[in-house]
Amino acid sequence: MPELPEVETSRRGIAPHILGKTFKAVEVRESRLRWPVAAELAEVLTGQRLRAVERRGKYLLLGAEAGTLILHLGMSGNLRITSPQQIPGKHDHLDFVFADDTVLRFNDPRKFGAALWTSADPMQHPLLAELGPEPLSAEFDAQYLQRRAGQRIACIKSLIMDSHIVVGVGNIYASESLFLAGVLPTRESGSLHREEFERLVAAIKTVLSKAIEQGGTTLRDFTNAEGKPGYFKQALAVYGRGGEPCRTCAEPVQHLKIGQRASYYCGRCQR
Ligand SMILES: [Zn+2]
Repeated sequence: MPELPEVETSRRGIAPHILGKTFKAVEVRESRLRWPVAAELAEVLTGQRLRAVERRGKYLLLGAEAGTLILHLGMSGNLRITSPQQIPGKHDHLDFVFADDTVLRFNDPRKFGAALWTSADPMQHPLLAELGPEPLSAEFDAQYLQRRAGQRIACIKSLIMDSHIVVGVGNIYASESLFLAGVLPTRESGSLHREEFERLVAAIKTVLSKAIEQGGTTLRDFTNAEGKPGYFKQALAVYGRGGEPCRTCAEPVQHLKIGQRASYYCGRCQR
């Protein structure tokens, strides 16, 4: 599933190819995504200049003059830069064609993605208005997380995966961050000490920054006509490594389900 680092990598990958260009056409081959693709998309975008390619959480915001196209990659979506000569494949649902024939192509086999239009402030859109702070922003710090932890009863892993608390900490990154911080995923979030919140916030920022950095090496794939941009395989410390030796202490990595999600941790390195 595309997580925040993949979405940010997508943003950085597509932006140089389309920023400042004018939409010439929009081709909708499949409008039944998570929500129906806005019927007026072609009409409102044609002739509009793309002024910004931004991200909020896992949403990509393509800012035109009359409004904003909100894209979400869902469970399996990806974006690539191509040309009209490249024949669309089975799951290539949307093409955004620019005046110079650059095509931004949206591919999504499982169709959980979204392409929505708003002429209002996108930050006030119902999908975005309630989102917590960006994990890499200064607003997301130990003081903030500790305050929010005190407002509800939840284990720490569920807390950091709640997009109302902080956006973009998906299942893999939650496990990895908790390992790096030395905090057990099952801890009641209110029981963490200030120093543990400090370590955890720092770990989340480190893990996400590293993933975005690694993603940078795959940017060339965004113009690869052969297929999907390859989402990066990362060197994971605990996630998906149940039973394998911890990279720090060699104890077998343990796993359990928290809120239906697989969670991995080291019982010796995390407390
Ligand atoms: Zn360990």
